[in-house]
Amino acid sequence: MNTYDFELTDEVLGKINSFTRKPLTKERVYAFPIVLCDNETDRDGERFSESALEKLATLFVGKTGIFDHDPKGRNQTARIFDAFTDRPEGRLTSDGRQYVCLVARAYMVTTQANASLIAEIDAGIKKEVSISCSVGKKICSICGRDIYKDPCSHIKGREYGGKSCYITLEDPRDAYEWSFVAVPAQVSAGVTKTFGKAAPAQPELPQTAQLKDEHYDMLTLLKARIKALYEYAGDKAPCCKALIDTLPVAELIRLEKTLSAALTSPVKPQLEKAAADNNKYKTNKLN
Ligand SMILES: [Zn+2]
Repeated sequence: MNTYDFELTDEVLGKINSFTRKPLTKERVYAFPIVLCDNETDRDGERFSESALEKLATLFVGKTGIFDHDPKGRNQTARIFDAFTDRPEGRLTSDGRQYVCLVARAYMVTTQANASLIAEIDAGIKKEVSISCSVGKKICSICGRDIYKDPCSHIKGREYGGKSCYITLEDPRDAYEWSFVAVPAQVSAGVTKTFGKAAPAQPELPQTAQLKDEHYDMLTLLKARIKALYEYAGDKAPCCKALIDTLPVAELIRLEKTLSAALTSPVKPQLEKAAADNNKYKTNKLN
């Protein structure tokens, strides 16, 4: 029994029918609850703030979800017709705050094609839900900066002075879609939340964490090298150096190549100019 189960009353049907072109009868509707996301820190080191969850509750109403477990089920969709946040009494998040989750109610029009899917949901098969949305702010738990506007060097999942670094997602701007993966109950734990489209199926492996560390070190070296190249090229403007810290890796690599090339190879236009001057000199001499 799902805590968020509900009856298909006339009032509920009325809400559903506000999304349909023609009114549906109770016999043609299958409605069910889903937990879309919560305020736990997820596998990506990100969590939604409470106010973000409240905002998402309004943004997700009317949004379509897809069923991912079966390629044939791709055209089976459900639509959210109601959403709200819930604060189960006494339940805390892993870092000790009041647990808040975003609960949605969705409906499907019953057809022969989705009868087995509905039976699976009815049988209480656990659901893994992934959502896709955009947010306006990403706040670092260590320095409080909005890393969209003002990136910092803190790494998600690392500890700084005993405080663990995670990102709080604030100010949701839009909700795009949600997808629903039915997993046999004995295989996996229940609802998980993911942000964005990529949903890593496994918890992070130690090798992944080590790779992240190595990448971070390489990135630090790369930035230091570019700053040194800038100085060597005679540009000591602090704004250029500050800019380097905000560039994505691909841009940094390109910048490093350009700067290295400019500093180590002869500069062609100058040679051409010298050649032109020589020719002019020769011409003058001849005259
Ligand atoms: Zn930070």
